[in-house]
Amino acid sequence: MSRRGLADLHIHTTYSDGWPTPRDVVDHAAAETALDVIAITDHDTIEGALRAAEYAARTAALRVVIGEEVSSRQGHILGLFLTNRIRPGLTAAHTVDLIHAQGGVAIAAHPFWRTQRLTRRRRRRVVHGVGYLAGELEFDAIEVENSTPGMALPNLLARRLAEATGITQVGGSDGHILDAIGRGATSFPGTTPRALMTALLNGRTRPEKRRYTSLGLVRYMAWGLLHERPRELAAAQ
Ligand SMILES: [Zn+2]
Ligand SMILES: [Zn+2]
Repeated sequence: MSRRGLADLHIHTTYSDGWPTPRDVVDHAAAETALDVIAITDHDTIEGALRAAEYAARTAALRVVIGEEVSSRQGHILGLFLTNRIRPGLTAAHTVDLIHAQGGVAIAAHPFWRTQRLTRRRRRRVVHGVGYLAGELEFDAIEVENSTPGMALPNLLARRLAEATGITQVGGSDGHILDAIGRGATSFPGTTPRALMTALLNGRTRPEKRRYTSLGLVRYMAWGLLHERPRELAAAQ
């Protein structure tokens, strides 16, 4: 295996809160990026991923891994190589077990993304990541590169935890717009989903990142105006 492949392990579509359709994601990733494999990981559904995989198989564009970003009670968990949807609202430990039970790979998404939101009455804590549970449960990997603008500090903390525990490190864009796709990525020996899985389980992956263009950042701000996540981030800084 000579070439190292590139995968984006964390992408959203219109099947959750992303802007592009599954087709748009596949077309864009195939035409505009160096990605060999993409994982579609919509919130609490695998429908978008199934659509993208069907379309990619028909057009032979690139390979799609069926994934889901599961909202566990303690934070978001990426399940990759799934065959069935995992329901939200379970404990993080139970969610990880269910991912493994169907032969999937469990990744702690943006573990230290924790923000506060001002509601009319009080400051409410909004938990996106599982925090230190990323180092305590049976995760296969930790996402240490997440390309959501404003994630430098949470990414650094995630990297420190992965270094301290020896857990495999990966990157993903967490893209909700086309321009984000591939900004965060994971390189691995080989170019196929199977090689990616082997690399994840053997700790042979490497997190990668690429800067946004200024136009890309403006587009992400536009997405943020219609969703609360980047505003929460701004409030936390
Ligand atoms: Zn998330
Ligand atoms: Zn996400």
